[in-house]
Amino acid sequence: MDIANTPATADGNPQMADAPPEPKQPPLIRREDYTPFAWLVPTTHLDFALGLEKTRVVATLDVERNPDAEASPHLRLNGDGLEPVEVEVDGQAANSWAMDGETLIVTLPADRHTVRIVTEIDPSANTQLMGLYASNGMLCTQCEAEGFRRIAFFPDRPDVLSTYTVRMSGPKAQFPILLCNGNNTANGEGEHGTHWAEWHDPWPKPSYLFALVAGDLVANSDSFTTRSGRKVDLNIWVRDGDLPRTDHAMRSLKKSMEWDEEVFGREYDLDLFNIVAVSDFNMGAMENKGLNVFNTKYVLADEETATDGDYDGIEGVIAHEYFHNWSGNRITCRDWFQLSLKEGFTVLRDQLFSQDMQGEAVKRIEDVRVLRGVQFPEDSGPLAHPIRPDSFREISNFYTSTIYNKGAEVIRMMRTMAGPEKFRVGTDTYFDRHDGEAATCEDFVKSIEDGAGLDLQQFRLWYSQAGTPKIKAELVPDASRAVLKLTQTVPPTPGQPDKQPMPIPLKVAVHDRASGTLGEERLIVLDKAQDSFVFENVGDQPVLSINRGFSAPVSIEREISNADLVFLAARDDDPFARYEAFQDLVVGHLVAAASGDGLADDAKSAAREDITSAFAAILADDALEDTMRGELMLFPSQTYIAEQIEAADPGRIFAEREALKAHIGAALESDLVALHERASAIPFGFSQEARGSRKVKTQALVYLAAGAPEKAADMAAAQYDAADNMTDRQGSLMVLAGMTGTAARTGRLLDFYNRYKGNDLVIDKWFAIQASSLHPSVVEHVKALAEHPDFTMKNPNRVRSLYMAFAGNPHGFHDASGEGYRMIADLILELDPLNPQTAARFVPPLGRFRKLEAGRSALMREQLERIANADKLSRDTYEQVSRSLG
Ligand code: ZN
Repeated sequence: MDIANTPATADGNPQMADAPPEPKQPPLIRREDYTPFAWLVPTTHLDFALGLEKTRVVATLDVERNPDAEASPHLRLNGDGLEPVEVEVDGQAANSWAMDGETLIVTLPADRHTVRIVTEIDPSANTQLMGLYASNGMLCTQCEAEGFRRIAFFPDRPDVLSTYTVRMSGPKAQFPILLCNGNNTANGEGEHGTHWAEWHDPWPKPSYLFALVAGDLVANSDSFTTRSGRKVDLNIWVRDGDLPRTDHAMRSLKKSMEWDEEVFGREYDLDLFNIVAVSDFNMGAMENKGLNVFNTKYVLADEETATDGDYDGIEGVIAHEYFHNWSGNRITCRDWFQLSLKEGFTVLRDQLFSQDMQGEAVKRIEDVRVLRGVQFPEDSGPLAHPIRPDSFREISNFYTSTIYNKGAEVIRMMRTMAGPEKFRVGTDTYFDRHDGEAATCEDFVKSIEDGAGLDLQQFRLWYSQAGTPKIKAELVPDASRAVLKLTQTVPPTPGQPDKQPMPIPLKVAVHDRASGTLGEERLIVLDKAQDSFVFENVGDQPVLSINRGFSAPVSIEREISNADLVFLAARDDDPFARYEAFQDLVVGHLVAAASGDGLADDAKSAAREDITSAFAAILADDALEDTMRGELMLFPSQTYIAEQIEAADPGRIFAEREALKAHIGAALESDLVALHERASAIPFGFSQEARGSRKVKTQALVYLAAGAPEKAADMAAAQYDAADNMTDRQGSLMVLAGMTGTAARTGRLLDFYNRYKGNDLVIDKWFAIQASSLHPSVVEHVKALAEHPDFTMKNPNRVRSLYMAFAGNPHGFHDASGEGYRMIADLILELDPLNPQTAARFVPPLGRFRKLEAGRSALMREQLERIANADKLSRDTYEQVSRSLG
């Protein structure tokens, strides 16, 4: 059946009389149903006979009854696509076992047994990239969250900690390098050109932290000596030709190790730390004990192939996975509802690290941009969930921006309220109390509460309530004082119609526009639905600077004039607040211009003048570093603007946003050209100055492309041709890719492809640049690129480079014809049988239909329904689609 042509019925119910029966709903797992596992598994032995097409796994588990759980003679072992080839109990072939669906149940009479189970798997057929799979002729694993059960029958849950010993053998020529968690304890040669290695990991761990790698790899090797004097061997394993691109990753790793000792008092706990780069990977990277597995995207960099953004991404992800050794591995999660315990905390740790490496202000702005661009929409849509969810059907769907980024913001608020020193006492308390355990978010909050001396009773609501709080702020002058009146509401979210007020820490200052005096910063905590705060001696024209440093993950509505915003954008001493003022100025204007009746001509030109003068001040401010100037110059994203509008019309927002860019580009043409020239004169390097110059250079082109396109095309082509680094090259190509009527576009796109053919990560950029371009024919371009010989559904990076870029491209994805929605739905249906985890990640963009104007809303919904009616959907996609429609 060609499902693409199945029409939805007029009443919105696509179920026809002869439609196939509803697929069986995957079960809902609930947090409140947690019970400890009936058995402990103190030790696990795994023996792998490795082969790309057939790997034989012998798992030997020593089990004993868990005194803290309800007793059961049944040992329930998770499996996924496995069949038991042999089952033995205490050395004897056993028949006291049965399958319950995918689960193997072994019935055990006594308190202690040894259970041995043989399974066989075909890694080459594993397109899901969960469990043991083949990538470019090597074997590797991804077990978080529930991939280990695709390798061996096991209690595949994070609260069952076991000490692993692993033996692996395989053809030496094919797999010269054999890696696993922990320490390499023995090696040897076998028959017929095979060899073997034995590994032992002394630290008990859950199965999701297991990893194995076998392949033809080379290492960048170095070492790090911890502050207590342990010498740790460090290796970054890559394919032969990639070795020259591993130095930045190695530097990042060593800086991370040093920083975690200094800032959190955490030392590494093995003599060996391995990182392996893999080109087929569903996510960014994975923190397996002693053997991190990374997407090549977060390892490989040199100036010719990686942008400044890529360098920062690598530094951040290397740090993130390394920091998990304590926040995740030494202390893991009791169950997957606690995922933010390790992810939120580890994201905060990597953010603080990157702030220290790159500068606090710029990093903070970048992190807030991600939060508002991804997490806020999630929090206001059908997939909203608290950072500690109450239920799920497929845990892979909960590796979300809410768990990660909002989770980090929630812990950051605790840090803000406690101050860094007391917060450190809190985290020390947490690490002391729970080392070696599978803990809960509650354990973390209690540790911070006790250690830092905070009362977090009401604050716990941040763990249970979803939705972005909205704060209304009004500053009422009263003689020499001003009263700040605040109200908060937490919007309803699926399953949570009524919310309670939460404690919201806000850094606030009141400046005086008349004298230019900047007020002193105060931290206030709004913990009621409404409250007032008095500011003394405020001057004649008090101006409110609020949520400075983005001290709380909330959205603020303030009554403020454009003149005050222009003042803050030019003068605020808090860099985030300064950034925010310009963003507000632009957002306020675009919301007014692109919603309702729009703006009258004179109101529109007045607002454009205000914005242009604020922008001119940003360009002219000599005290600003270019890294910061580049942030201030960035326009708020279309998604963020759309979030502020009921029944948003993406076409109108796009048109207004581009028109405003064009206005700025035309009005400030000579300043932008001068900025571009100044920045172009700074030679390549990694100093803040050089990095900043690259940032503003491309930003200048972005506005010129809108306001003075012919000039911009020449400048972009020249920047491309002169580029001695990927940042300049990609930036100029991005600008050219969005332009019409210039031969430079086709020529440079072709040059880029030919120059980097065969380098997968750079060819990913080539796809992404075109799929995210402003070009009017982007829909056709993406269709053609899907037929390009270098496009494949089998590689998640390539799929994302074309289709995630496209789904994030407002004027392609939201094409009024609905073609963009159809393309993404087609992709989901095609990818779902191959790689459900990656397929399901494309559902959220389609779940935004309730926020859109009627025409697009119906078209988008139709596509979701088409997916929902497919014959067979993975648990992943089923859950995301049904929640989105629900
Ligand atoms: Zn993580």
